[in-house]
Amino acid sequence: MRLNSVCLTFALLALFSSLSAGATDVKVKEEAVGAIEKRKAEMIKLSDQIWAFAETALREHKSSEALSRYAEREGFKVERGVAGMPTAFIASYGQGQPVIGILGEFDALPGISQKASPVKEPLEAGAPGHGCGHNLFGVASLGAAVAVKELMAAGKLKGTIRFYGTPAEEAGSGKAYMTRDGLFKDLDVCLAWHPATATQADVDSTQALVDFIVEFKGKAAHAALDPWDGRSAVDGLEAFTHGVNLLREHVKPTVRMHYAILKGGDVPNVVPEYAKVWCWARDSKRAGVEPVLQRLREIAEGAARIAGVESKFTIQSGCYEILVNLTGAKLLQQNLEWIGPIKYTEQEQEFARAIQRATGSEQKGLNGEIKPLKAPSPDPPGGSTDVGDVSWVVPTLHLSVTTAPESAWHAWPVVACGGMSIGHKGMILASKTLAATMVDLFEDAKTREAIQAEFKEKTKGFVYKPYVADGPPPVPKE
Ligand SMILES: [Zn+2]
Repeated sequence: MRLNSVCLTFALLALFSSLSAGATDVKVKEEAVGAIEKRKAEMIKLSDQIWAFAETALREHKSSEALSRYAEREGFKVERGVAGMPTAFIASYGQGQPVIGILGEFDALPGISQKASPVKEPLEAGAPGHGCGHNLFGVASLGAAVAVKELMAAGKLKGTIRFYGTPAEEAGSGKAYMTRDGLFKDLDVCLAWHPATATQADVDSTQALVDFIVEFKGKAAHAALDPWDGRSAVDGLEAFTHGVNLLREHVKPTVRMHYAILKGGDVPNVVPEYAKVWCWARDSKRAGVEPVLQRLREIAEGAARIAGVESKFTIQSGCYEILVNLTGAKLLQQNLEWIGPIKYTEQEQEFARAIQRATGSEQKGLNGEIKPLKAPSPDPPGGSTDVGDVSWVVPTLHLSVTTAPESAWHAWPVVACGGMSIGHKGMILASKTLAATMVDLFEDAKTREAIQAEFKEKTKGFVYKPYVADGPPPVPKE
């Protein structure tokens, strides 16, 4: 099975290896790259601002506004507060076909504030930090959109460019609401990238995920005087998590289940009336998540019966695995190779090695090389993204660019590098690659059609069913 899918992949790669590289005027691409080079200083400034704001999911007001204003100053028409999220926006320029979209994230992670320093040193203890490099993500994508706009304004490209300001990637699956509300459906192609420890056109998918809450409601009583009159919600919760841990032996090795107990009683001398656990379940494909989810529902019901309490199971959000587009990956790869690898100074390499020493990682330094295009793995490495939802409604091209050395991700080293030249260099390379690729997508109808043909083939009979609940997104009250 494994072998077959690998063979099929090579066949597909070979089939698309004849993609026309000559349909685009290289001068136009050079101008796109030049437009980014010209704006480098202001892009770095904008990224550093968002790095310092470090706002978490759906609270990214200053970050979203900084990006929106930048787009407006560049002549984009900006629609704020789309899909019911005050921090989500669409910036568009141009008119008519083709319509090319590009995604930009900007949310931070709680509790990992860090200075741009190679030792663990919070900027503000306990505050959020950009441990996934989304400050770079948003600005690189917007910079690429602006480069395309400049060519449109000069009459060198025709069509519509649309930058999507997509909040709440780290929690809440903001893009799933935007997909549910149909904001991507008229795009010809969509692009995205992500900060990483290696540079490559991505051909591996991500994990599908479901995010849910289980609550237990019992009856309070004095824990010593008349415990027989009480029913413990924590008993229900414990029976549930025990059931989850028993289930681990009977799921596929690709399944991941994790939970955090949010409420488990207040004091030992009261039989707890209420308990709450937050869970995620993942697998390589959405189709694999579904049967696990069903088992988890049954475990919650069984646990409630064991404890004589009530249970409530609420799906909060989730996302699909990324639908990889190999034709698109090939195009990204061509542009990556055309632009060339990232070159680091000795000081930057030493900064990276110092981080690796501090985290007990191998002292390999930074890898700015461009990895060759590989065959997709049958199962993705661990991790999920709401780009997955977008990729099932519009062909989506995905790139990874080095912005940090190999050490801990979603942690202080990524925050540190994202606020200095290592992160900035990755951001600029990503921006140039995305801009050059968009020039191809505007100019070369044949490649665009090949990307769309692969997408149509892979989504035959597919119906999009988001995990996010009906109704508006859970926007926090300020
Ligand atoms: Zn991320």
